[in-house]
Amino acid sequence: MGNESTFDYIIIGAGAAGLMLADAMCKDAFFDDKRVLLLDKDAKKNNDRTWCFWENGTGVFDSLLHTSWDAIYFGGADFSKRFNIAPYQYKMIRGIDFYEDVLTRITQHPNISFRIDEVLKVSDKDYEVEVITKETTYKSKRAFNSIFTYEMATHQNKYPVLQQHWLGWFVKTEKPVFEEGVATYMDFSIPQKGNTRFMYVLPFSKTEALVEYTLFSKELLALEEYESALNSYLKERLGCGAFEILDDEKGSIPMTCYDFQEHHTKNIRFIGTAGGWAKPSTGYTFMSTSKKIPVLINHLKIGKPLKDLRFKNKFWYYDLLLLDVLAQNNAKGQIVFETLFKNRDPQLIFKFLDEETSSLEDIRYMAGAPWLPFTKALLKRLF
Ligand SMILES: Cc1cc2nc3c(=O)[nH]c(=O)nc-3n(C[C@H](O)[C@H](O)[C@H](O)COP(=O)(O)OP(=O)(O)OC[C@H]3O[C@@H](n4cnc5c(N)ncnc54)[C@H](O)[C@@H]3O)c2cc1C
Repeated sequence: MGNESTFDYIIIGAGAAGLMLADAMCKDAFFDDKRVLLLDKDAKKNNDRTWCFWENGTGVFDSLLHTSWDAIYFGGADFSKRFNIAPYQYKMIRGIDFYEDVLTRITQHPNISFRIDEVLKVSDKDYEVEVITKETTYKSKRAFNSIFTYEMATHQNKYPVLQQHWLGWFVKTEKPVFEEGVATYMDFSIPQKGNTRFMYVLPFSKTEALVEYTLFSKELLALEEYESALNSYLKERLGCGAFEILDDEKGSIPMTCYDFQEHHTKNIRFIGTAGGWAKPSTGYTFMSTSKKIPVLINHLKIGKPLKDLRFKNKFWYYDLLLLDVLAQNNAKGQIVFETLFKNRDPQLIFKFLDEETSSLEDIRYMAGAPWLPFTKALLKRLF
């Protein structure tokens, strides 16, 4: 392989998944003699998102942390509490810091190149993969694709597809209304309007925070509806006085148990959100991606067809039930999460959502949730 446009691996998308994969290749000698191309239509020079996740103790992204919190607040209609989450911490990374860190490391590996180009078509020709871009055509033995579209999941109706969608404002307030060191994980003390709606607040100081109005529902709202909810929360609920919006962040993450398996081929693997790596019941994708990359790397080293790699486990069934509950009655989220946080410690909730609980812990976790909607959802799935 010496050709300018021919590679061993092409990674499409230099976002969370593409960069974690390229970084893992940089760090593993197996890939030293492999030619790798990383493609993105964007130069990744903007802070287009922030990633948050909880973690037990120290972790590989700690050097990139922007902020971390040792406590969380859960707010409900009848139950609210501030929890110390040790040994967990809730951590935040700015997208730009992550992009810069990995892209700089990649420049030290001449076998891995990053090119800015828009991908138009990717096809598995069985003996090679063809990637057609705006500028040219590339070929590789294998390709990893992180371009996600909702149609990938919504073309079927066996599994509901909800969205976790939100508008977030980075605000600076006149009055000191935020509690430093305490992240508001979910505040349901706002009108639910037939959906699962909550506020998420990440304070950086007493007067600065990222405040997000978030829904778990099928359809997006009009921009004004997110804005008006944020305004009322800041002014009426928090009493923040005048405030300035320093920046904003809008997003939508798929929440579905559709497993994306049919999209993979022998030589093309979808990764990240496009690979179904967003945790169906929470939308958290960053840590879920970082846990799947080493498994993918091992799979590559064995040389098996890419579509043979599967991640389905018992947690898939638990996620499916929650999504069925929310799809059947979208207003149920508040009572489900409120009952859980009332009955169980966040440490167990985090461990369960990290898919690290034993069967006994699973039972303990589930016994802390309202049983009726889940039993109904289970019966509906079974029969
Ligand atoms: C605003 C926002 C905030 C989020 N916050 C969190 C969070 O706090 N915690 C969490 O766990 N998850 C979060 N997520 C969900 C998830 O972690 C992110 O979406 C994450 O970036 C997904 O990684 P990815 O690699 O699948 O996709 P992306 O990071 O979106 O990467 C895909 C890449 O493909 C490129 N691309 C797209 N089309 C083309 C094309 N045609 N040609 C070439 N390149 C293309 C894009 O430019 C992009 O760089 C958030 C998502 C958003 C949108």
